[in-house]
Amino acid sequence: MDVDSDVGPAGPGAGPRARPNPIRKLASDVIIHRPSNAVKELVENALDAGSTSIKVTVKDGGLKLLQISDNGHGVNRADLALLCERYATSKLAAFEDLQTIATYGFRGEALASISYCAHLEVVTKTQTDTCGWKAQYSDGELKSEPRPTAANDGTTVSAEDMFYNMPLRRRAFRSASDEYARILDVVSKYAVHNPHAGWVCKKAGSALADVSTPAGSNAKANIGLLYTPALAAELLQVPETEFPNLGAKVRGWVSNANSNWARKGGWLLFINNRLVDSSKIKKAIDGLYTAYLAKGASPFVYLSLELDPKTVDVNVHPTKSEVHFLREDEVIDAVVGAVDKALAHANTSRSFTVQTLLPGADTFVQRDAATRPKPAPNYKVRMDPANRTLDSMITVVAPSQISGYDERPTKRRNVDPSADVQLVDETPMWNAPKDDQEVGESVCEFTSIDELRRAVHKRASPDLTETIAKHAFVGLVDRVMCLALIQHQTRLLLVNHAAMGDEHFYQLGLRQFGALGRLQLEPAPALSDLLRLAAEDEPLADHRLGVDEVVDKCTALLMSKADMVDEYFSLSLADGKVSSLPLLLKGYTPNLDRLPHLLLCLATRVDWDDEKECFEGVLREIAFFYSPRPFDEDEEEDPDEAAHQAWQLEHVLFPSFRRTQWPRTMSTDVSQVANLPDLFRVFERC
Ligand code: ADP
Ligand code: MG
Repeated sequence: MDVDSDVGPAGPGAGPRARPNPIRKLASDVIIHRPSNAVKELVENALDAGSTSIKVTVKDGGLKLLQISDNGHGVNRADLALLCERYATSKLAAFEDLQTIATYGFRGEALASISYCAHLEVVTKTQTDTCGWKAQYSDGELKSEPRPTAANDGTTVSAEDMFYNMPLRRRAFRSASDEYARILDVVSKYAVHNPHAGWVCKKAGSALADVSTPAGSNAKANIGLLYTPALAAELLQVPETEFPNLGAKVRGWVSNANSNWARKGGWLLFINNRLVDSSKIKKAIDGLYTAYLAKGASPFVYLSLELDPKTVDVNVHPTKSEVHFLREDEVIDAVVGAVDKALAHANTSRSFTVQTLLPGADTFVQRDAATRPKPAPNYKVRMDPANRTLDSMITVVAPSQISGYDERPTKRRNVDPSADVQLVDETPMWNAPKDDQEVGESVCEFTSIDELRRAVHKRASPDLTETIAKHAFVGLVDRVMCLALIQHQTRLLLVNHAAMGDEHFYQLGLRQFGALGRLQLEPAPALSDLLRLAAEDEPLADHRLGVDEVVDKCTALLMSKADMVDEYFSLSLADGKVSSLPLLLKGYTPNLDRLPHLLLCLATRVDWDDEKECFEGVLREIAFFYSPRPFDEDEEEDPDEAAHQAWQLEHVLFPSFRRTQWPRTMSTDVSQVANLPDLFRVFERC
């Protein structure tokens, strides 16, 4: 069977939405040790319910909020009372069923366990229900009768304040970002294994999803989306192989003999569709790769193993994900054999490799390093950042944009078709620096800002920061996909400039907090008009509020913060008019079409109660607004606007990127597409 065309595991989780089974009770003990454990259970429940769309929202690494929304078959109203009782499950009728159960969950303990350590709320609607139901649970019990509520078909489970009643466990968490990374790891892996469903995982309040895959995808494509395109490009397929005498089947995708996956999280093992660990299998596969890989290099391995459920040890504690099964050694030999075959087959037919940019970087690993050609004397590496770029070599886009560089007229853009708003950069000249501009740090007495600034240093990757600091811009590849090419030494890198912009503008805002310049809007549009534009445009998650109500509430909220946002963020809302916006980077103007959306996000996504959250939230929203991304993929774009944006991307933004401290997480948005020595190797053979 071709895995590429496969849209997910054959288990019932992948089937069409059915009517929910009634819930019964059963026996044993699960403990949720950390938010990422809960994510795994909740995501499995969503898959069991036949969902094709699963969205995970996380606040503070899941400690503050963990929310999983699905479009599955929902829970019957009559079963809501039982949902969180220990050993309540709809997935088996008798103990013997444990032996043959094919859905992931089989214990009926996950929701119960979560209800003991968090405030748990379930909103659910079956296809036949006329309205949804909302139920809240504590210690395994319903807190009150479920209340009717508006809801889409499916289930949303929210766990708030996890471990609120276990201060020691709560304190044991090192950091929210560490836990969020674990959650992303779990969700990414389930998304690779269940590509039939569309997945989203994001931080609450962030407009940008960290995991986002379309429904009806395939495993390889999702690896490209969630890990790196370069990795996906060089994956080898382990075609589905059956071992009838062992009652086992294996399939998957693995990296080839020339690559090195030096990051964490390159080991995805599913047994009967559950993400598990098996140190024995891992050791055996690692052993196989040592025959192929250079010393110290590690592979990326995704394997799906299906075993006769009767042979898998179902009594293993679900949070201990290590599993054991019968005839383990024989099954492992068979699996290793299947992977070896894929590797051996590929090794005879390839010549050119693509390598992911790894922090620490020149990790290009070559099994036959000895036969690699010496650097040829004719290496032409464009290292001087002042060198010409693709654009300047081919055509000059919209000459007015470039020749008018020093005396550019102020740019006009429409925010509202009825109001012609102009944007005026308060810095008198459009003398954007030829190279990058240094942006100093403002003096600031808030410890929260201090902490945020220190966090920037802490999560910085020295390698990536160095790479970007010394890059040369090569050209814009795709403005809609937000891809550009840059060069660093002998490597050609494909980068996502929107993702980079998000981080860059966040850091610029943070550095200049309280001392930001201003972009004046003339005439100043009314705050409520802008909010109305955004509210009418936005598919409001739950239509509990009408547009008028949303506009009124958001206007009132933002007006109550007007002094604060004016002082710290140079966002002036005086008299209900948006008369100035923060100026983050001289010579760079954000796309004003997105201003209404910024204001709506500020009103709805920022946590205004907590100082640090609030500052960070506002800065992130402003950064998202500033970052260069197309307003609407479907809309025809004004060619002038497009040229203007391309121009400032190359001449203002990329030079300024050199000054930012890039976080380790950003390396997923930077991948190496070519390395000169390898290109030479390819051409030598021609
Ligand atoms: P288990 O998954 O082992 O049955 P859980 O505690 O995880 O136990 O869930 C209990 C029951 O709640 C499930 O058997 C199922 O009937 C119902 N359930 C939980 N989550 C969902 C969901 N997202 N959609 C539909 N039903 C659900
Ligand atoms: Mg479950």
